[in-house]
Amino acid sequence: MNSMKGKPMNHKKFEQMILTPEALTSEEREELARHIATCESCRKLSLQWQKASRMLNKPLPMAAPAPGFSARFAHSIEKRKEAEQQKQVRRFITILLVSLLSAALIFAVTYYSTNSLETIIKDTANASAQMLFLWESLKAIISTVTGFLPTVLLIPFLLTAASAMLTLTLLWLVSIWKLTLQKETVL
Ligand SMILES: [Zn+2]
Repeated sequence: MNSMKGKPMNHKKFEQMILTPEALTSEEREELARHIATCESCRKLSLQWQKASRMLNKPLPMAAPAPGFSARFAHSIEKRKEAEQQKQVRRFITILLVSLLSAALIFAVTYYSTNSLETIIKDTANASAQMLFLWESLKAIISTVTGFLPTVLLIPFLLTAASAMLTLTLLWLVSIWKLTLQKETVL
C-alpha cells in the first residue's frame, strides 16, 4: 500500500469500509488495517466512528430520552405551530390597525378642517366615549372566547373579530362624518 502524505489517494473506499466494518471480509479487514496504519485521516475517522458506534449501541443516560420526552417534544412542536399562527394573526391585526389608522387620519384631517373647535371637541368626546365602550366590550368578549376556543377555531374567530372592529370603526367614522355634513347643511 503506497501512502505518501499529501498525495491524493482512494480514501473513499476505505472510508466506506470504516463505516461498515461488519460487511468486510477478512482480506478487506487486513487491507483496511494496513491503510489505517499509514493514513492519519482514515485513522481519525475510524476512531471517531468506533466512539460513535459505542455511544449508539450503549444507551447512555444522556442519550436515552427521558420519560415523557416524546410527549413534551410533540407539545413543543404544537407550541411552535401555535406561535406561528399567532404571529400570522398579529400581522393581520397590525395591517388592519394600520389601515384603520390611515382611514382615521384622513377622516380627522377632513373633519378638523371643516368644523368649529367647539363642535370638534363635543363630537370627539361623544364618539370617543362610545367607541371606547364598544372596543372594551369587544375586547372582553374576545378574551373570554379565546380562553376556551381551540386554536383551529381561534384564527377565524380573531379574523372575524378584527374585521368586526374595523367595520365598527369605519361605521363610527362615517356616522360622525354624516353628522358633520348634516350640521353644515342645517347651518
Ligand atoms: Zn485514508
